[in-house]
Amino acid sequence: MKYISTRGEAAPLGFVDTLLAGLAPDGGLYNPVSWPRLTAAEIAGFAGQSYAAVAADILGRFAGDEIPKAVLERLCAEAYASFDHPAVTPVTQMAPDRFLLELFHGPTLAFKDVAMQILGRLYGHVLAERGRAMTIVCATSGDTGGAAVEAFAGLDNVRIVVLFPEGRISEVQRRFMTTTAQANVRTVAVAGDFDDCQAILKSLFADDAFAGEVNLSAVNSINFARIIAQSVYYFVSAVALGAPGRAVSFAVPTGNFGDAFAGYAAKLMGLPIAQIIVATNANDIVSRALATGEYRRGAAQATQSPAMDIQVASNFERLFFECAGRDSAATADAFRTFGAAGAMRTPPAVLAAMQETFVAAAVDEALTAATIADTRTRTGMVIDPHTAVAVAGADKVRTGAQATPLVIVSTAHPAKFPEAVTAAAGVVAEPPRAVRLRSGLAEEIDRLPADLGAVKTYVRAFAAS
Ligand SMILES: *Cc1c(COP(=O)(O)O)cnc(C)c1O
Repeated sequence: MKYISTRGEAAPLGFVDTLLAGLAPDGGLYNPVSWPRLTAAEIAGFAGQSYAAVAADILGRFAGDEIPKAVLERLCAEAYASFDHPAVTPVTQMAPDRFLLELFHGPTLAFKDVAMQILGRLYGHVLAERGRAMTIVCATSGDTGGAAVEAFAGLDNVRIVVLFPEGRISEVQRRFMTTTAQANVRTVAVAGDFDDCQAILKSLFADDAFAGEVNLSAVNSINFARIIAQSVYYFVSAVALGAPGRAVSFAVPTGNFGDAFAGYAAKLMGLPIAQIIVATNANDIVSRALATGEYRRGAAQATQSPAMDIQVASNFERLFFECAGRDSAATADAFRTFGAAGAMRTPPAVLAAMQETFVAAAVDEALTAATIADTRTRTGMVIDPHTAVAVAGADKVRTGAQATPLVIVSTAHPAKFPEAVTAAAGVVAEPPRAVRLRSGLAEEIDRLPADLGAVKTYVRAFAAS
């Protein structure tokens, strides 16, 4: 299987090179040259299988012969053994036609673990095979950093540096990054905000000499392997609810559009998904784009659901490419216009293709809090603010009787956002064992100014150590 850039100007790569590359050199994102199609019988055959077995089957269709089947099965088994629930991503029922897909049973209590746990093991395997070492630099507003540290800590041939904005992430989030006590992990508090961290990261990648010197790599959600690892839970949950015999719909809280695109990828692979409701918080660029076709950046606002406080939904480019009939020239044109002007217009035919599957809703802060409280009253379930955005978004879109069951994608454990949950519902979300353990451990944090030169010097010294 080969992977092509959405902008059509980069050479096609194999699976392993796509895994290690992240962004394509022409600025686009990699998608497979064609999507593997699963037959209804193959999808039905997932019923009753372990999560790890389904993951190995689906990932194997993308890895082809580049990673032996037995290796992939072992890596998936190890990755999903790190989850604290035997179903890995269990589905619970909220109402007659509504279910909650719990993606927060991994080591850092957010859905980023689902992809990151297998990504870390894939990196470990392919770098050992190639006799290479890499330096991963990651900028985080909270959840990605912890999931990445947890997945890459202790690997021989990877060093990982996480940049986070000092004082702007929660204590729970910080402790997942700072308490691993592994020599290949460095956590850096940057004296600035998340945009400063991300700007530094982009500048590191733009410096070819530096990137080559330290073997720089990225594991944010533009990495194709992360997307496909996330498609797995769409299959697993839909099959549990009767697919492929009946269609299922999903509601997804969205930031960078990685999770939502993973659902669309499952549909392209043959899973009968009727509708994907994408719910945003006040940072509603994706909602506006799907409703009107205008994709326009605004100013990022801080909300109770900080993992979605994003103004540029990188993976939206993948959807545009697919819905434009894979026209890479049109995709390059649209996203270069957006890069330069901060806005672009989706052509009507492309928008219509998006709207065949997607419908969007934006949810404000008051409704998010009210939804946490209301869900607790009606079901006894305590949900986190990101999940609450999806529930409220679904309520806005789905009115009256429905033909398909709806799965709410629950992306974080409520104990990861205790202040917001307590303020909204007056309850203290019981922290799982992992969180209690972290609260007693010593933290290791370095501090740097929001300065490119200082970060370069720091990363260079660490890479050479
Ligand atoms: C990252 C994250 C999201 C948004 O996911 P995208 O793939 O960026 O759309 C939603 N909820 C939580 C808890 C997250 O950590």
